[in-house]
Amino acid sequence: MEYGLIGENIPYSISPQIHAEIFRQLGICCEYKLIPIARQNLSEAEVVIRRLCGVNITIPYKQTFLELCDVLSPEAQRIGAINTIHNKAGRLYGYNTDYYGFGKMVERVGYSSSRPPRVCAVLGSGGASLAAVRYLQDIGAQKVYVVSRTPDSSAEIEQISYDRLLQLQGDILVNATPVGTYPNVRSCPVCESVPEHFCASLDLIYNPNPTRFLQIAQRAGGKICSGLIMLVAQAVKSEEIWQERAVSEKVIDIVYEQMKALLEKRQ
Ligand code: NAP
Repeated sequence: MEYGLIGENIPYSISPQIHAEIFRQLGICCEYKLIPIARQNLSEAEVVIRRLCGVNITIPYKQTFLELCDVLSPEAQRIGAINTIHNKAGRLYGYNTDYYGFGKMVERVGYSSSRPPRVCAVLGSGGASLAAVRYLQDIGAQKVYVVSRTPDSSAEIEQISYDRLLQLQGDILVNATPVGTYPNVRSCPVCESVPEHFCASLDLIYNPNPTRFLQIAQRAGGKICSGLIMLVAQAVKSEEIWQERAVSEKVIDIVYEQMKALLEKRQ
């Protein structure tokens, strides 16, 4: 059975290693490969999607193939983006497993629908931010703010400036911007005083692990979670969909430790 990742600039993606390890843990013999597709060759993508059993979709195509799907899962409809397609006998089912991957980060810092967070702030207003906001709303967060460099007063979710964030206190602070990604490891999206006003800080960035943002939050005494958990957990959720079986939570931990070591070796 063949699977793959469709995206534009993906040569450094560790998704093949993540899925190879999941296949090993599940004792199944499948293949997962990188399928780089340039924007000018987009028509090739549909041929690939229809040939494989399932694909993951990454930047910049998470909205591109929505219309190709015959069925969209509820979270994919609400977010308006997909990162997983399951080809079931020629019918294409679209999902957003980033949503579930983010959920694992939230669970790891102690929040869930049975213990919903009160005030949450999500930095950045891109696609990853929307998946995080939807998840936080779905588990019953009382108030979710999006923090933007250019707040849009007409946005559906209230957007605030980084200045206003300085006065906010809450349960969960999420970095959904690319600020702090390797090699710009000394960058942090907020002033050092901000994370101490939140009980938990989550960074969607997985390289470095931890980011400077998370180091500051940890020093301030808060709980933290790295985006590497999300990356591994979204891959595990994709496999659950493709293989039509549940995968133990332990697999996330095993694959996480292996990928952490792999990223450390690469630097
Ligand atoms: P994106 O569209 O490139 O950026 C997200 C938002 O960040 C932008 O809309 C912008 O919001 C803000 N931003 C961009 N550059 C900035 C800068 N220099 N300074 C301050 N804010 C800036 O990215 P995305 O696709 O939403 O992804 C966001 C991050 O999540 C990336 O680092 C991505 O790698 C990561 N991610 C991780 C996973 C995972 O599995 N761990 C999954 C998906 C994404 P404003 O213009 O409103 O300020």
